[in-house]
Amino acid sequence: MDEKISIIPLGGTPDVTKNMYVYEYKNEILLVDCGLGFADPSLLGVELLIPDISYLKTSGKKIAGMAITHGHEDHMGGLPYILPELPDFPIYATPLTAEFANEKLKEFGVSKRVQKVNFDGGEIKIGNFSITFIRITHSVPDTSNIFIKTPVGNFFHASDFKFDFSPYDGRKTEVEKITKASNEGILCLLSDSLRAETVGKTPSESKISHALESEMEKCTGKFLVTTYSSNIARLNQIINAARKFNRKVCFVGRSVIKNKTIAENLGYMKIEKGMEVFVDELKRYKDSNLVLIVAGSQGQENSALYRMVNDDFKEIKITSKDTIVFSSDPIPGNEISINALLDSIAKKGAKAVHSDVSPDFHVSGHGATEDLILMMNLTHPKKVFPIGGNYRHLIAYKNLAKKQGFSDKDIIVTENGQEVIFTKDDSYFGKKLSLKNVYVDEISGEEVESFVIRDRQRLAKDGVVIVMCEIDSTNGQLLENPNIIVRGMSPQEIKDVSRHLIKEIRNTLSKKKQKVSDWWYVRKSIGQVCEKYIFRNLRKRPLVLPVVIEV
Ligand SMILES: [Zn+2]
Repeated sequence: MDEKISIIPLGGTPDVTKNMYVYEYKNEILLVDCGLGFADPSLLGVELLIPDISYLKTSGKKIAGMAITHGHEDHMGGLPYILPELPDFPIYATPLTAEFANEKLKEFGVSKRVQKVNFDGGEIKIGNFSITFIRITHSVPDTSNIFIKTPVGNFFHASDFKFDFSPYDGRKTEVEKITKASNEGILCLLSDSLRAETVGKTPSESKISHALESEMEKCTGKFLVTTYSSNIARLNQIINAARKFNRKVCFVGRSVIKNKTIAENLGYMKIEKGMEVFVDELKRYKDSNLVLIVAGSQGQENSALYRMVNDDFKEIKITSKDTIVFSSDPIPGNEISINALLDSIAKKGAKAVHSDVSPDFHVSGHGATEDLILMMNLTHPKKVFPIGGNYRHLIAYKNLAKKQGFSDKDIIVTENGQEVIFTKDDSYFGKKLSLKNVYVDEISGEEVESFVIRDRQRLAKDGVVIVMCEIDSTNGQLLENPNIIVRGMSPQEIKDVSRHLIKEIRNTLSKKKQKVSDWWYVRKSIGQVCEKYIFRNLRKRPLVLPVVIEV
């Protein structure tokens, strides 16, 4: 009988995020990527999805190892949640990817680590598989595609990529390694398909500099840029523009500062002494001498940008002279919060430059049709398998591949959980796993079910506080005193808490007299102010349930 190898996507196809692919040969598994997905913000406190790994736990197969293609959350963000669930195995990634991943694992208190592999590290044996990391251009440094050799045939795992022939950081795609892989024969190319509908070639990252500089030259106030913090080449372009116009640079927001530090440590970013200033020093400089690189390009509540624009950031106020550049695209699903943010910026009289205004401040890291065709031509595979796209992108890729001469049976369009079985020269569908959505809490990393337990523990220990507020939607203020119900505290505590919370809530809301565009945020702020007050004064953490009635 013919030897067989299977591929099963556990995430990423067709849902773009939470990428994770199982390569299975006999009793052995090689995993590629371990990403996070982003859930619906209406699921309060439960904002993240991870791939369903039940199969890995129950199939009885041995996980020989894992390779991570690059340092984006949707390719490696699932590690701290998933690794503790699985037995030990080696995990490999290129330097920056490994650093990002290990930083995350440390943060979550997970002791496992990703091993660093240099691009010239050659072939790595993982059980019956052998893998080679190949440098490719994308929107985070050290992105790799992976050439995977198996006893049945060779695969080219081209997760996120574009062909940028003049990358800003000078780190070019290793085209010769791709052709070498191609010469060994490739059974199947798994390819990024996210921009398969976009005709042409994705522009080079380098084009951003010019747009940034001309906008910075016009700006008489603070120049703020928000972008994806892992796009180190983008951060470097902003820093270089600042240098040109004699502006100091300040990094604001946890993710930006964290990635900046990692990039500096690995030598991917250089900022001379005196060029960088910190938030608490800003008041010593004129606005026109400042560039702020700020987290929050997706309008996330509690991000630095959101708080600045909503008058909730002590050291930084937005003025009508300021320019705020969104060097990013809205991630689908975030449009509503971004629009609310843009509206708030407009109210301040500041200038916002975003993707609807100009296409010059952001380029995608994903290849358009010409990039995708070039990859097909370079790898010269027998079969193609679009991944990392929504269903319509997979179909667009299929149409593109057909024009390149691939027949229907050589184009694999499938979805998460579907096993695709390969023999030396053919493929067919195997079993279908039924995958469930697994939500995790961003902060604790616990699976959602355990919320119930946590709430019960808090109820038993410290009681419950229910706060019912009627809020005027036109100005965000209380219509009358909130109704506060406390259980599980002494009568004196109940009296004190009720009286003070009313005052605290009123104060918090009065700081932001404006039409309410985001009820979720209002609810959350009320919850937080109550929790803080009670903890400060009673050292208790009851379950606080804010109920907001929109009037
Ligand atoms: Zn990516």
